[in-house]
Amino acid sequence: MADQPRLLEGLDPEQRQAVIAPRGPVCVLAGAGTGKTRTITHRIAHLVQRGLVTPRQILAVTFTARAAGEMRTRLRELGAAGVQAQTFHAAAFRQLRYFWPRVHDAQMWQLTDNKFRLVMQAANRLGLSTEREDVRDLASEIEWSKSSLISPEQYPAAAQQAGRETPILPELIAKAFAGYEKLKSSAQLLDFDDLLLHIAAILEDREDIAEEFRSQYRSFVVDEYQDVNPLQARVLDAWVGNRDDLTVVGDANQTIYSFAGASPKWLINFPRKYPEATVVRLERDYRSTPQVVDLANKVIGAARERPAGTRLKLVGQRPDGPRPDFAEYDDETDEADAIARKIAQLAKRGVPLSEIAILFRVNAQSEVYEKALSDAEIPYQVRGGERFFARAEIRQAMATLRTAIARDTAAEDLPGTVRELLVEVGLTDEPPAGGSARERWESLIALVELAEGLVAAVPDADLRRYVAELDARAEAQHPPTVEGVTLASLHAAKGLEWDAVFLAGLVEGTLPIQHADTDAAVEEERRLLYVGVTRAREHLHLSWALARAGGRRFRRRSRFVYNLVPDGHPAALPSKAKQPQPPARQAATITPQCRVCSSTLVSTMDIKLGRCSDCPSDVDETLLEQLKAWRSERARQLKVPAYVVFTDATLT
Ligand code: ATP
Ligand code: MG
Repeated sequence: MADQPRLLEGLDPEQRQAVIAPRGPVCVLAGAGTGKTRTITHRIAHLVQRGLVTPRQILAVTFTARAAGEMRTRLRELGAAGVQAQTFHAAAFRQLRYFWPRVHDAQMWQLTDNKFRLVMQAANRLGLSTEREDVRDLASEIEWSKSSLISPEQYPAAAQQAGRETPILPELIAKAFAGYEKLKSSAQLLDFDDLLLHIAAILEDREDIAEEFRSQYRSFVVDEYQDVNPLQARVLDAWVGNRDDLTVVGDANQTIYSFAGASPKWLINFPRKYPEATVVRLERDYRSTPQVVDLANKVIGAARERPAGTRLKLVGQRPDGPRPDFAEYDDETDEADAIARKIAQLAKRGVPLSEIAILFRVNAQSEVYEKALSDAEIPYQVRGGERFFARAEIRQAMATLRTAIARDTAAEDLPGTVRELLVEVGLTDEPPAGGSARERWESLIALVELAEGLVAAVPDADLRRYVAELDARAEAQHPPTVEGVTLASLHAAKGLEWDAVFLAGLVEGTLPIQHADTDAAVEEERRLLYVGVTRAREHLHLSWALARAGGRRFRRRSRFVYNLVPDGHPAALPSKAKQPQPPARQAATITPQCRVCSSTLVSTMDIKLGRCSDCPSDVDETLLEQLKAWRSERARQLKVPAYVVFTDATLT
């Protein structure tokens, strides 16, 4: 076990204050890279080391499975193995599986592996569109409602009050939501939010179970507390009960899930809720070079509104590093190829591939970078896409491995046996060139690597032990990692860090995303960029391309990067174009869109025509009328003068 001085070494005075605070409420409010996660990890280890709690009495929740896995590893190294560090969902799943039979006198229902299909069925029964995009919009409204504790009946009024931009009539969404719930329960299925709803209800309604739960868990820790939603806050209340042994850490400037109901209000109000709490603020940034920190301060300093207590400026602690670089490309493919070349150069200079990430706004952007990396023969892994253990090839692989156990297949060379068995589900010796086949191969090879890791740790591990390890990881949503460049959405990157980060595809319509057409939504997009910038320890590269891969459409650099590019840099605009303009007539801007393909229009001529120069002109006039009606309705809802043309003045 680590001795006490080691746990307090390597912490600054404020971090130490939070670590040694006695049991009871503790709140750390601080910016990115200031050591919040490190502080709570050390605090947990310290509590265990002092004998104030046992590892099994602590429940630590994080927002991503990877963050939870990293925390468990770190805790083990600090002598606190056995602490449950999990996502909200994984923790709820585990608890529900234990308590469900007691409450319902039956096996727990299965988790649905195809929520999308259920939403589609519900939409279909109401005669609503079953187009992919529409179903996705519907599913995200259902998710928002459930995580905001809103029932189908309450949805129309609540959506209006929250200013939700509903894709269809709110009453129809409410009906589809109710239909989805019905379909799900008649098939005895649960979705992710149900895990949280059920465990909260059980702990609230059953005093005996709540008592049992509370005698087991005595101390709670929440990382990234700024992104808690009402449902998670309710679960946390049910866990903590009337006790106060709760440590929370967060950064309101990194709130990136408010579109899904999250709010930093719990973080900001924590000191008021617990007046006796130890409250610590951290300013020193240990993650990034001063050059990266400066850029992060610039990005967030431009935010229109920052809640009280979030205006701390980060102060870089590391030695100087290279200046963040910016680059503009003609075409997305050029951008992706250039990034792949830069990655190859970094690798040559000794930066491990696992210390490099390409981050982007939406998962769909990943493909072009995957292709460029495959072409350059650089291994990579995609994060934040489909959950690893839900992937078809992994489910097939697991089935094959289980069959082999049933047949009693002998294994002493475990990795070799696993490799042979996985040939049945398509594992080849050589990686396929690219695309989804390559991704499948990467997933399967990750299983082989996991077998190698297991044998290194437990030399006599057999197939049964290996599959048990996979099951445990699946339950904890802790996928094995592939050694390679990480491709991830900005959302999936939160809390993580790499030596080199490429923020790619920074164009209007992507960051901020096209549908961010209110001030609040644009501000959330700005926070996403802040999250992205603050992931980099040393090398940071921001880029954008003026056309889609193979396309001719003109796109424009993100409004957020205008003032970040230093004067004299090749990507800087002539100074005239950067001159601040008088403010436009209003704040909320409606981006002019092509009436055919919906991409953002920039040139005056295109705006006049209402379409991109490369889209056909023979559009259906009825459609055009509908579009006009929609725009004036949106202008009315946003309380802005009619259609406002996109000007540089709004691009601050
Ligand atoms: P985020 O807001 O992005 O989640 P964070 O505040 O949780 O960031 P950590 O991930 O805990 O920050 O720490 C950032 C980096 O700084 C880590 O590599 C961590 O090990 C290092 N670090 C934190 N505190 C110190 C310290 N006192 N001395 C040296 N390194 C530190
Ligand atoms: Mg953190």
